[in-house]
Amino acid sequence: MSAVGGEEIIRIAKKMERMVQKKNTIGALDLLKELKNLPMTLELLQSTRIGMSVNAIRKQSSDEDVTSLAKSLIKSWKKLLDGPSDDYITIGADDEELGAQIEEAVFQEFKNTDAKYKNRVRSRIANLKDAKNPNLRRNVLCGNIAPDVFARMSAEEMASDELKEMRKNLTKEAIREHQMARTGGTQTDLFSCGKCKKKNCTYTQVQTRSADEPMTTFVFCNECGNRWKFC
Ligand SMILES: [Zn+2]
Repeated sequence: MSAVGGEEIIRIAKKMERMVQKKNTIGALDLLKELKNLPMTLELLQSTRIGMSVNAIRKQSSDEDVTSLAKSLIKSWKKLLDGPSDDYITIGADDEELGAQIEEAVFQEFKNTDAKYKNRVRSRIANLKDAKNPNLRRNVLCGNIAPDVFARMSAEEMASDELKEMRKNLTKEAIREHQMARTGGTQTDLFSCGKCKKKNCTYTQVQTRSADEPMTTFVFCNECGNRWKFC
């Protein structure tokens, strides 16, 4: 029974997807009525992404019967998800059109809803919810960052201004240390590299803080490029 129901749901899901693409919801009511009598499972929701289509049809249609039936279907499917879950976007039950567009863009990239897709969606949500990052939320909401761009942004790109500044400074420091260890350093076989174990290093001693504090020694491995420092 459920196998037959599954095939039916897949068939309807495909039809609905075409409807949404063509923005033509004629016949949607019959399909929704059919759906209402079919046993929906979480697996089917995720694999067919029918929730997205039903939600889109709800928005596209001006037929009150269609919109109310679509709403009640989505509501009943929501119960299939255990507790408050990020997966709500998977069924497209979010009222936010934007959320749906972002999810759609992520899906188009992976073409499935496996771990990579889920991680991507979760990281979007976590960053949007980040209280320290109001600019990101604002930019996404007002359209400065398009949904498909946001869908692909790296953690660095999404990071708050504060975090970006911090990372920039860290990078600057790393470059400075690297250059110091490389230029004007003294070649030595005193240190063995933690990575390649060879004893071909260049070291520089620098007074990084006040004069009465010990010097910092920057070491650069000439073999593998590994670098470290100690006081
Ligand atoms: Zn090395």
